[in-house]
Amino acid sequence: DAVELGANTFVISGMGDSDDQNRGSRLEMALKEALGNDEMEVFLQPKCLAGTGELVSMEALVRWNHPELGHIPPQEFIPIAENSGMIGSISRFVYFRAFEMLMEFSRLGYSHLRLALNVSPLEIHDGTLVKNLTNGLLFTGIDPRKVELEITEGSLLINSQTARSILDEVKSLGFQISIDDFGTGYSTFGYLKNFQFDTLKIDKSFIDQIQMDNNSRAIVQAIIAMSRTLNLQTVAEGVETQEQYDILKELGCDQLQGYFFGRPMNFDDFVNYLGDTSVKKSDRMNLPLR
Ligand code: C2E
Ligand code: MG
Ligand code: MG
Ligand code: MG
Repeated sequence: DAVELGANTFVISGMGDSDDQNRGSRLEMALKEALGNDEMEVFLQPKCLAGTGELVSMEALVRWNHPELGHIPPQEFIPIAENSGMIGSISRFVYFRAFEMLMEFSRLGYSHLRLALNVSPLEIHDGTLVKNLTNGLLFTGIDPRKVELEITEGSLLINSQTARSILDEVKSLGFQISIDDFGTGYSTFGYLKNFQFDTLKIDKSFIDQIQMDNNSRAIVQAIIAMSRTLNLQTVAEGVETQEQYDILKELGCDQLQGYFFGRPMNFDDFVNYLGDTSVKKSDRMNLPLR
């Protein structure tokens, strides 16, 4: 049904596909302006050692706050950015900001902190990943050995030959590579022997039920055992309770991440959080700054 309103014609429709399409195209238009209008921010979420609880790393997670549409979750706008050719510039922004923050933490005495970045499969295949990373290194001077790239299993499926040479290049620059959401992709284990990974991040869906579901527990146990043999570190994502923490520690998972340890935070909140944690800043001040 079309309703005439002066010069404008509005198509009225029920809830459904066209509403999604409208939101999709509105978001796509808004996304074009988002970086220029300073609407994006990089948040950081702690990663802690399972053994001691010490905060050792942080994952950069992009946030988009639109003046009218409000907070738009990355799960909604990252796919739009990927489909409209904007993912490269968003990643460039995220990497730069995250590298700057890593530098700033070093200046504040937290030079041991590491950083994890999320990588879109598209960036691996269109060549922007290496460009964005090398530019980021050049401009900020961070140590790439402190940085881990989180890629999903799906990244390796599209064209594994390209993926392999890009990831080899990234490794030779000094970056580490982690498989994000491990266990949810539909790939075979074959890629584990063909690529040089450093870490497996066990998907939250296995952690959610770990205290009541023996199958989840068995799967996590098997992933950890396999990782040990392959010389890979394990990280559990989405840890929300003390009970989950205790089980994962007992199973020998190396690092833990989740709301139990801390939510994603902006830079200032993260600095305060660091000051509050049991690892005193003064202990860190004795370490050489870089
Ligand atoms: P991911 O990389 O697997 O990140 C984990 C997501 O789980 C984050 O959501 C994080 O806030 C959330 N999370 C962490 N701990 C908990 C917990 O204990 N409970 C619950 N319920 N959630 C938890 P977020 O920030 O909304 O990001 C969602 C996804 O969007 C990410 O999944 C990643 O795939 C993508 N993403 C986020 N930032 C970026 C980015 O800068 N670049 C790219 N390419 N993708 C990004
Ligand atoms: Mg991630
Ligand atoms: Mg993940
Ligand atoms: Mg996930």
